[in-house]
Amino acid sequence: MSGTYEDIVDGHARRSPLPPLRSRATSGGAKANGDDAMSERYDLVVIGGGSGGVRAARIATQFGVKVALVEEARLGGTCVNVGCVPKKIFTYAASYGAALKDARGYGWSVGESSFEWSELIAATHAEVARLNGIYAGILERANVETIQGRAVLQDRNTVAVQVDGETVRTLETEKILIATGGRPVRPPIDGKELAWISDTIFELESLPESLAVIGGGYIATELGGALSALGVDVTLIHRGEHLLSGFDKEVSAHLTETIDEHSSMKLILNTNVRALEKDPKGGVIVHLDGDHEPVRAEAALAATGRAPNSAGIGLEEAGVKLNSWGAVCVDEDHRTNVPNIFAVGDVTDRLALTPVALGEGMAFAKAQFGPDESTRQIPYSIVPTAVFSKPEVGTCGLTEEQAIDKGHPVTIFTSRFRPMKNILAGRSDKMFMKLIVDSESDLVLGVHIVGEGAGEMLQGFGVAMTCGATKAELDATIGIHPTAAEELVTMRTPTR
Ligand code: NDP
Repeated sequence: MSGTYEDIVDGHARRSPLPPLRSRATSGGAKANGDDAMSERYDLVVIGGGSGGVRAARIATQFGVKVALVEEARLGGTCVNVGCVPKKIFTYAASYGAALKDARGYGWSVGESSFEWSELIAATHAEVARLNGIYAGILERANVETIQGRAVLQDRNTVAVQVDGETVRTLETEKILIATGGRPVRPPIDGKELAWISDTIFELESLPESLAVIGGGYIATELGGALSALGVDVTLIHRGEHLLSGFDKEVSAHLTETIDEHSSMKLILNTNVRALEKDPKGGVIVHLDGDHEPVRAEAALAATGRAPNSAGIGLEEAGVKLNSWGAVCVDEDHRTNVPNIFAVGDVTDRLALTPVALGEGMAFAKAQFGPDESTRQIPYSIVPTAVFSKPEVGTCGLTEEQAIDKGHPVTIFTSRFRPMKNILAGRSDKMFMKLIVDSESDLVLGVHIVGEGAGEMLQGFGVAMTCGATKAELDATIGIHPTAAEELVTMRTPTR
């Protein structure tokens, strides 16, 4: 695995022996650093050791300030432990089955092959543990004091660290950063407690034979697709007409129409789940609205969204404003309504994506502790993102519907084509690409891709859009031949 990969997890990661956490709050009140004061003073206390919190803490110490980071579980947050990293490993694992089949078209005779979940999950856990250690090393080298325990605000400048409900340390601080992330939620239906959440999948000792996935968003399509490719009989039940409903409509439609060419996942669309019930014969019965037959599966996975981790940490008591679903409300400087309390990442009411949390953590630390007090603004409307479904989806900027809603006159370019790689492989599935251009200014408002490598392709187009690329500039760009990505700089005839 290359250094580049670790940079994604948290920049400047170096491979080194795994250091222990610098400081462990224990219920006996003992402190690893030998400091015996009960109340200690910091410039910044960060609550949460995920992507946003670690990045903010590390950058803040570069400006000479004293920082403590309190984390109650494993360092690395959702992304490292129960999100991007294990999910992407599963996605890679899931791609080999199709690659082995495709290889035959290219002259390979592929012998008998089999897949062992136990080996994949053990390797995944080892990789996650390695990354947990890298995070600890990053904080150690940055002189951030990492404290294990649950942080609870006592007032606007005081954070109690609790272990087993007992306060073992009290931290006085000038500023507080809330970076506690989010967690998966189950839908409000009878028997919801029977459903697994995405966290469960990353701990499975063995794969179920069959799985009912509830939801049609990022996690449902990614995990449903990966597990299906790894041999699980997956039925995905979604209340909408198309998967990824917040995405560009043509993108959602193309994904929904072509998903069965990539996996054997069954789709039940336009259908609500009414209730879950334990099947006396074993497994779960998923009752659906209308006259649909219930779905019987060994397990059900609720992939129906995530909620911010904002409860039980003293936010409301400290006067911090939360929105109706419990997200911390912040301004463009990441500041809450309490002037010395800030928040970044999935706990806020903005985009729940790891690179966004990293950007917010960095911007916060530089603005609050660096020489330049102005906060670097995150370009929320031009955030490239990928869904590692099968086929993959990459998107940046506005959907056609959003562009029209915002009053842009739009010119649309679309292309559906069979990528070269599929021809000898004998696959009929097509890629879909779409450009949304402001007809007056020629500015590229949206780039959307469905197909293999969409995420990798889109990163560069994200740079171009951040720089304000126009369609004429895409047209002036020389394509790389033969690639699928060259289509994005060779589309000349508008679709509408
Ligand atoms: P999403 O918001 O992506 O999808 C939730 C899905 O559940 C939608 O299809 C939604 O339907 C459906 N749903 C919501 N409530 C109910 C309900 N009560 N009954 C039935 N269906 C319901 O959430 P995820 O949990 O998949 O992911 C959470 C977030 O995490 C993402 O939005 C993304 O920000 C982040 N993430 C990013 C990833 C990446 O970058 N690759 C990967 C995984 C997560 P409808 O569309 O009709 O509302």
